[in-house]
Amino acid sequence: MEVVTLPGQRAGGKVWLVGAGPGDVELLTLKAYRILQTADVVLYDALVSADIMALVPQSAEKIPVGKRAGKHSAAQDEINQLLVTKAFTKQNVVRLKGGDPFIFGRGGEELQTLVEAGLAFEVIPGITAASGTSAYAGIPLTHRDYAQGVTFITGHCQLESRPMDWNGYANPNNTLVIYMGILNAGLIRNGLVNAGRSENTPVAIVSKATTQEQRCFIGTLGQLEKLAAEPELKMPALMIIGEVVELADSLNWFHPDADKSQKNEELAINFHSELAL
Ligand code: SAH
Repeated sequence: MEVVTLPGQRAGGKVWLVGAGPGDVELLTLKAYRILQTADVVLYDALVSADIMALVPQSAEKIPVGKRAGKHSAAQDEINQLLVTKAFTKQNVVRLKGGDPFIFGRGGEELQTLVEAGLAFEVIPGITAASGTSAYAGIPLTHRDYAQGVTFITGHCQLESRPMDWNGYANPNNTLVIYMGILNAGLIRNGLVNAGRSENTPVAIVSKATTQEQRCFIGTLGQLEKLAAEPELKMPALMIIGEVVELADSLNWFHPDADKSQKNEELAINFHSELAL
């Protein structure tokens, strides 16, 4: 689709492509926070948490353009066009994306459109789901005793022009992080096992990482499909495959429910001390 600009007119606005991080509002960068405060319009994805949207000034126009597997609320072409149109009519246009905009976020495609339209832009990175999940599940992605490298892949698996390189991904000295893989868990297990990765390789599926609803499901590669079908597993969810997953046992520090009940206890204490005054 060709993007329509306004010939003869100069766009006064600038587009900020901003990463919102994986969920926990405190994982937003200071720069992202500062730019959000100046936004005239925010086009945001479904993955951006409500806590982060609450930081957007009341006066800013907020446009949800989120996409979720199977449910496209706006086609990519429409989002591209909207960004260009808004840059002609508003000053500070924020394109807010979950995690990091350049990691499975189509940030590159959107910027290409802006370049074609001759618009000014800046990019603010965010903490990608792999980093947030790794930290909050206690699974270091590399560790000298377990993995020398880490690979981030999409589990969408459906690009015939670019088939999955299972042989490359089956390297036992490497950690594999799979975004958007839950619906293809069976395909992923078969691909890796057929390429030689052991069925006993530890795996973790972490859902809603870094939020108070985070859940971590740990098992082996052989059990990947079963783990992915856990009724309690909510989207979004990320897979981590590799020996490093063993470390979660001892390094797992984030206990959302416990944190919540501790906060409730604190609230209760404050409440009682207020009553006592
Ligand atoms: N740009 C984003 C990724 C977008 S792709 C980033 O850098 O994180 C969407 C996928 O990211 C989801 O299908 C899921 O696999 C993963 N994801 C995003 N947020 C997540 C979260 N809080 N917990 C677990 N997985 C998450």
